[in-house]
Amino acid sequence: MAKRFSPEKYVEGILAGDRVMLSRAITLVESRLASDQELAQEVVNRVLPHAGKSVRIGITGVPGVGKSTFIEAFGNYLIKEQGKKLAVLAIDPTSQRSGGSILGDKTRMDSLSTNPQAFIRPSPAGKSLGGVSRSTRESIILCEAAGFDTIFVETVGVGQSETAVHAMVDFFLLLMLAGAGDELQGIKRGIMEMADAIAITKADGENVGKAKAARAEYQSALHLYPLAASGWMPQVSTCSALQNTGLDTIWQTIADYLELTKGNGYFKKKRHNQNLQWMYEAIRQGLEDNFYAHEQVKVQLPGIAEQVKEGKKSAFAAAAELLRLV
Ligand code: GDP
Repeated sequence: MAKRFSPEKYVEGILAGDRVMLSRAITLVESRLASDQELAQEVVNRVLPHAGKSVRIGITGVPGVGKSTFIEAFGNYLIKEQGKKLAVLAIDPTSQRSGGSILGDKTRMDSLSTNPQAFIRPSPAGKSLGGVSRSTRESIILCEAAGFDTIFVETVGVGQSETAVHAMVDFFLLLMLAGAGDELQGIKRGIMEMADAIAITKADGENVGKAKAARAEYQSALHLYPLAASGWMPQVSTCSALQNTGLDTIWQTIADYLELTKGNGYFKKKRHNQNLQWMYEAIRQGLEDNFYAHEQVKVQLPGIAEQVKEGKKSAFAAAAELLRLV
């Protein structure tokens, strides 16, 4: 169990920008222990009035697209050229600190992880998507209260996790490789529809021409989609994390988006809706947890499930019977 302090101590530390306290609070948020969760909720609730003043940016793309390299280059650019304080969080339920790990391998973000203006937190290993997205969302609040004004939420662009990230960020950036077909990149149409911007990565050396062609292709593909409720037309650009090119254009795109959506009220509306969405999600999760934790359910569920499996009882009748126990 993690070392625990009083809620005041966490809050005081976080508001003072103490990174160690921030890390410890995130560990609480990630904990499955009921007592840790209770403490975590109190801390999150107390810092909430100090949170929210950041831009939350989701970054996704298939493994190999250059996410780590991009985040390091873009992060350093934002810190050095734009004076930002950056927190990088990850949503990666597949990560078990091997192969698929995206942020687990911190050495891939060497210069960023040692930069005092940056805070990098890998995804907790061995958690479900629901668990990771919940703790990431609360971690965003903690990081904001600690003074980070730019939050990256990174995810691997291959599964359900994009939807979860999309539901917690203001701006969604999709990284794509030039010259690989969409199928090859495992990018589903739905993910492209979620993107506020697409950046074609590795636009350097021999790749420049291909990247430019891909940019034009994606831009015209995006024009076919109906205009989003935000009134924003998604932008496509190219960049090279190795040569630090195109990073300023991406930041300008984000700044343009913020100007538009803060002006037309969409930014605020989206955050309000996200808050509500997370409340309902938490209610659903809480009901489910209570149900499965109920003594009678624990006793009766296996037998009833067996009857359902063998077709002796309908699934609906069985569910109704179990729900009545609670
Ligand atoms: P991730 O799996 O999406 O996090 O991708 P990485 O950041 O680990 O990069 C995958 C590979 O692409 C590595 O070998 C990088 O050196 C290479 N790479 C990343 N960014 C660039 C870039 O801007 N230009 C070129 N030429 N290679 C890059």
